[in-house]
Amino acid sequence: MIPARFDYVAPATVEEALAALAEHGDDAKLIAGGQSLLPVLRMRLNAPEMVVDLGRIESLRGVSDDGDAILVGAMTTHAEVGVDPLVAEHAALVAKAITHLADAQVRHRGTFGGALAHADPAGDLGAPVLALGGEFLVAGPGGTRTVAADDFFVDYFTTAVGEDEILTGVRLPKHTGWGAHYEKFVRIAHQWPIVAVAAAVRLDGDTIAEARVGLTNMGSTPLRARAVEEALAGQPATEDAVRRAAELAVEGTNPPSDLNGDADYRRHLAKVLTRRAVLTAAGV
Ligand SMILES: Cc1cc2nc3c(=O)[nH]c(=O)nc-3n(C[C@H](O)[C@H](O)[C@H](O)COP(=O)(O)OP(=O)(O)OC[C@H]3O[C@@H](n4cnc5c(N)ncnc54)[C@H](O)[C@@H]3O)c2cc1C
Repeated sequence: MIPARFDYVAPATVEEALAALAEHGDDAKLIAGGQSLLPVLRMRLNAPEMVVDLGRIESLRGVSDDGDAILVGAMTTHAEVGVDPLVAEHAALVAKAITHLADAQVRHRGTFGGALAHADPAGDLGAPVLALGGEFLVAGPGGTRTVAADDFFVDYFTTAVGEDEILTGVRLPKHTGWGAHYEKFVRIAHQWPIVAVAAAVRLDGDTIAEARVGLTNMGSTPLRARAVEEALAGQPATEDAVRRAAELAVEGTNPPSDLNGDADYRRHLAKVLTRRAVLTAAGV
């Protein structure tokens, strides 16, 4: 289908983009890579009068060192994030997740910020960013504010970013030297996950000193599997210990039922995938 008629601007700065949002209010919509928004417009599920393209704003692109974190610009494509050396060194969990995200075409157009702002509970980036304790930089009329990962995802397709705001980047605290793995369960290649688990593990010898675990598609937002994390801390990195901890993966979840599987099936998957993800991250 052809989208409804809309006007279009492509500002060169965040300030100009914010001004366009302020001028058009509810009638404006940001576009990044367009991989989720364009299908929505074509199906006429949304019909903004003004589309504000972030594609010309150079300051929103790239990955940089930011002290104890790395900063990923919102308009950095999945493909760019996936091969970035800083991401590989300090946030390997994100790089691992991107290898499973969609196909090469989508990865070359879709953006880090666009995917996180879209907040599909089946999206592959939310759980890794949540697990690593990412901090979201949100620019608005009053300046830039920082939103903790725990507060960013509000509900299905809903984040803490207001209608008059722009997600400009995400700070990922450095997890240098941590083992990482993203275990995604799909029926066919390049699909959205039925369930996926993001795990990062810091080993001290043969002991799991710290673990961070995020769940994809086990509720209306990405979730931290905190009970698993607590159960893993201080445990030996063995099959038995990880299996016991992984049984706790369903605590606090509320998985959907759909044609790909009912909630019970997803609960089963969450335990199995958590075990696999943590064991692989720990190198067992
Ligand atoms: C065939 C196909 C398969 C896919 N498979 C997967 C998959 O397996 N896993 C997965 O995770 N994703 C998948 N995706 C989605 C992909 O990750 C998209 O890139 C992503 O959802 C949206 O990113 P985008 O840059 O294209 O954003 P857009 O489509 O341009 O925007 C999406 C939404 O976010 C808003 N937005 C965009 N940028 C900002 C910003 N900086 N600040 C505030 N709001 C903003 C827009 O207004 C819009 O509402 C798939 C997409 C397609 C088309």
